[in-house]
Amino acid sequence: MNPRPMPRESIALMEGYHSPQLEVEVRLNTNESPEPPPAEFRAAVADAADRVGWHRYPDRSAMRLRTRIGELHGVGPEQVFAANGSNEVLQTLLLTYGGAGRTAAVFEPTYALHSHLSRITGTSVVTGERGPAFALDIDETRRVIQSHKPEVTFLCSPNSPTGVVDDPADVGEVLGLVSGVGGLLCVDEAYGQFNPQSAMSLLGDEVPLVVTRTYSKTWAMAGARLGYLVGPEWLVGELEKVVLPYHLDAMTQIAGTVALDYVDAMQQRVQRLVAERERLVAELAKMPVEVWPSGANFVLIRPEEVSAEVVWQKLVDRSVLVRNCSSWPRLEGCLRVTVGTPRENDRFLEALREVLT
Ligand SMILES: *Cc1c(COP(=O)(O)O)cnc(C)c1O
Repeated sequence: MNPRPMPRESIALMEGYHSPQLEVEVRLNTNESPEPPPAEFRAAVADAADRVGWHRYPDRSAMRLRTRIGELHGVGPEQVFAANGSNEVLQTLLLTYGGAGRTAAVFEPTYALHSHLSRITGTSVVTGERGPAFALDIDETRRVIQSHKPEVTFLCSPNSPTGVVDDPADVGEVLGLVSGVGGLLCVDEAYGQFNPQSAMSLLGDEVPLVVTRTYSKTWAMAGARLGYLVGPEWLVGELEKVVLPYHLDAMTQIAGTVALDYVDAMQQRVQRLVAERERLVAELAKMPVEVWPSGANFVLIRPEEVSAEVVWQKLVDRSVLVRNCSSWPRLEGCLRVTVGTPRENDRFLEALREVLT
């Protein structure tokens, strides 16, 4: 028998990205919005879908969508690049600015896809460590950036899975270091609207910075795949060369554009979740668990007396699913819980109290 075709060695050795799903009543494991977008949004999308020219390719430049997104951030469409989820944005960025012989820097613990997508695109990964309480350590970022001169440096604020918000002064300092070595800084703001700080204010024509956002979390639209970045016009032009033609289908463009008619509803949803997050944190503080302050729609905890594995399983037995991070490097013994509806959060708190006593 002939041997099977082999993928590139780096891919063959890879584990792939897993986010296990189980049939449970309370799903608090993937940071989705617990509420759907408003009924008016769904009706408006259905109406627009009725008018799609299905026999034609969609608008390749997604001009309406990018214009509306740009308005949200006070920039023109030429500074916006949209794709199928912010993961496709990150992949396109790495296909363009990373690749063989190039390097990306990450500061762990952080979002696993930054290093995973780097490796998939043949980009070497250098890893720096975060400091106490998972905050950025400027001396460490300086050491990594000046010694490796990465083409791409990733930050994530609010960070996943820790919820930590990077100090804006630190982000500015990292940007200076990155500029100094001719690199590009990508700040992943998937949870941007859950927290007032943003790197958007640092953007500029000659600034090597992009900020990514997604519709999956605050916009309650994980079911549509849509994300974007805001950055300099010249950079968006390079990305457009790399991404597949017509990658953003007509329905995604419509859903993303119509969603922006419901900014108030989004902001109210976000406010409800932030209030629930603070309630969760306050309740968790009364239990034998370590809790990290969060600027996102989830909270990282470390049970102090019962092992995280046992807590996770006993929560599943009570039909509550949270993310088990306990085997992730630097997050030994940790669980991450997404903020749900008040009822879901009560179910979680009740189950956790039972499990811990
Ligand atoms: C959820 C998440 C994303 C979103 O990915 P999509 O592909 O847009 O769904 C990106 N970055 C971080 C840090 C996330 O947590």
